[in-house]
Amino acid sequence: MASTHPAADAEAIQRANALIASARRIVVLTGAGLSTDSGIPDFRGPDGVWTRNPEAERLSTIDTYLGSADVRERAWRARMDHPAWQADPNPGHDAITGLSRTGRLALTVTQNIDGLHLEAGLPAEELVEIHGSMRRVRCVGCGITSPMQATLARVRSGEPDPPCELCGGILKSATIFFGEALVAADLNRALGAAKDADLLLAVGSTLQVYPVADMVPIAASNGASVVIVNGEPTAMDDMADVVVLGSISEVLPAIVNL
Ligand code: NAD
Repeated sequence: MASTHPAADAEAIQRANALIASARRIVVLTGAGLSTDSGIPDFRGPDGVWTRNPEAERLSTIDTYLGSADVRERAWRARMDHPAWQADPNPGHDAITGLSRTGRLALTVTQNIDGLHLEAGLPAEELVEIHGSMRRVRCVGCGITSPMQATLARVRSGEPDPPCELCGGILKSATIFFGEALVAADLNRALGAAKDADLLLAVGSTLQVYPVADMVPIAASNGASVVIVNGEPTAMDDMADVVVLGSISEVLPAIVNL
């Protein structure tokens, strides 16, 4: 399929490549755009889930979810049909794993919930999944977590809104819903890594979701170089040393190719 993204500028790729080649404490921030070439749509891009259906946001809003069995039933059905279950990592994920193998990647912070960085072999201790993971569920009553697939099997066998088997509480995907706080330790680790980085590489994000987007100004104001890779302009392009516009799965391997 022909790429819908602009042809990347060779000079920008070269400048990004040179910055990454000389960096020693790289921090990567990834967003939904990294996984679209694995078949998982983003939210706010031109073909995004919310761009096409603003109602979908309600399924991930905590008050709506807790207050309505109907919303929960729809949310479980949407989880079952989620494209992530069929998705494989793409060359963009592989490029970040490759960067980790050079020993110069301090941390990757992903806004994605699809688990594809781990599938691509990025070590779990080098990754913060700041919005959680859709591969697990959490009980809002007792807090216990368990594999998502076990809960989806219950949905398939006739429980449209399965309760926690331990305490009877409401189960939800182990992801951060709108209206829920981030995990403080994860956020501190992400912002601390941005402060200590000598290069911040932001990939596939509109950089509009705070406080994670703050990683970019924090890194820049502490002297790090900033490289942004995305298919369209972002909210923070004016802070970047280099902006590479283009298809991530094509551009990222070229940028980290050392
Ligand atoms: P976003 O949807 O706000 O923005 C994605 C950006 O990536 C857009 O600017 C889009 O134009 C760009 N893009 C999409 N595909 C691209 C490609 N192949 N090459 C180049 N650019 C491409 O994403 P966000 O900033 O991560 O925020 C969305 C929120 O929704 C996140 O917080 C995340 O938790 C969640 N989300 C996760 C997934 C996932 O896990 N894969 C998918 C959708 C949304």
